Amino acid sequence: MNDLQTRIEGHINKLSKFTATPGKGTTRLTYSQEDQQAREYIKEKMKEYGLQVREDGLGNIFGKMEGTIQDAPSVLIGSHFDSVPNGGSYDGPAGVVAGLEVAALFAQNKIKPKYPLEVIALIEEEGARFGGGLMGSRGMTGLLSEEDFKNLKDNDGISTVEAMTKIGLDPALPKKRDPKTLKAFLELHIEQGPILEEKNIPIGVVETIVGLTQYEITVEGQAGHAGTTPMDRRADALVTAAQMIAQFPTLAIEEGEGTVMTTGKLNVFPNGANVIPKKVVFTVDIRSGKEEHIQNVIGKLNELIDSYTQNGIQVTAVQQLYMQPKAMNPEIVALLKQTSNALTIPYSSINSGAGHDAMVLSDVTEVGMVFIPSKDGLSHCPEEWSDSLHIANAVEILYETAKKLTEAE
Ligand SMILES: [Zn+2]
Repeated sequence: MNDLQTRIEGHINKLSKFTATPGKGTTRLTYSQEDQQAREYIKEKMKEYGLQVREDGLGNIFGKMEGTIQDAPSVLIGSHFDSVPNGGSYDGPAGVVAGLEVAALFAQNKIKPKYPLEVIALIEEEGARFGGGLMGSRGMTGLLSEEDFKNLKDNDGISTVEAMTKIGLDPALPKKRDPKTLKAFLELHIEQGPILEEKNIPIGVVETIVGLTQYEITVEGQAGHAGTTPMDRRADALVTAAQMIAQFPTLAIEEGEGTVMTTGKLNVFPNGANVIPKKVVFTVDIRSGKEEHIQNVIGKLNELIDSYTQNGIQVTAVQQLYMQPKAMNPEIVALLKQTSNALTIPYSSINSGAGHDAMVLSDVTEVGMVFIPSKDGLSHCPEEWSDSLHIANAVEILYETAKKLTEAE
């Protein structure tokens, strides 16, 4: 194992310790104590690697290496550092660590970039605390407004501003970043699927990130006694929700071309064993590589909602997120492939089925993304694992690519 790989393993292991669920995977919610610990570690490493550290009004972390051109736009490199509950050690951190190590190679080899290089560590990509997801990049690009940000609350009713302040962050700092300050964004991420491992290929160069939309559906009926209300007099919110959800797999399969539809969250009110459910709130997540499929499924979902609004049942839907499928920048894609070839690291073109910050940032700058294999295709679970050798390969590709993009010498 070379030095680079050893350092990568060190970072991953250290960051994995900042979890609210030791022994049961990584649980690092945004603005939590574990966020603060990981944040301190990342900032400390940035400083150690000679970067100027700053946080924005969302708590995103930036470590900057100045370029020789005055006020030139930056080449950003990084990923997110939050996690889902009981997730793994690689989803997000692998990309942050890669960014750190690219900067380390710049410093070590005394590379002077013309355009600044910025390592970034983004918050709340998963949306596990405040919902919606991709919050760091959406806030940074202005897709999430200041007001919408302030109105977000977690499940305990704690607002973003309260939570930020509690760990010593300043929500009054600027959030939106002028696109003129951005030249490119590079992100390494674990694949979170089985393709690269099955093909035994160490690098995936991402061509397109699938589009996605998320809805929160509320079904309202009438509460009643489970023993005394006859079956024909009920407006049972849970029965209606269950009937709707049961139709989603068919809906997605009929749409085809890899369209997927998921209900991953459901809350029943009042949630008592002997009470007819009055209200059910559940999520719907729809994804596809083609926007027309997403639109078609939204249309069918709305028809379904209308058809169930009857006999004392009210169904309403709120769209929480809508992202078009996004193609990566063709020149950066070509550059990543050339670099892989030059380093004799085999690669494969791949599409991403998961949403990523790169997808949001592609609206404002040129974006490129690489994947590394995920063991058994697993992610968002404690078993999530990727080989540090693969991360090291990716770092070498990103280092050469960042040198070209920053016009370093
Ligand atoms: Zn991720």
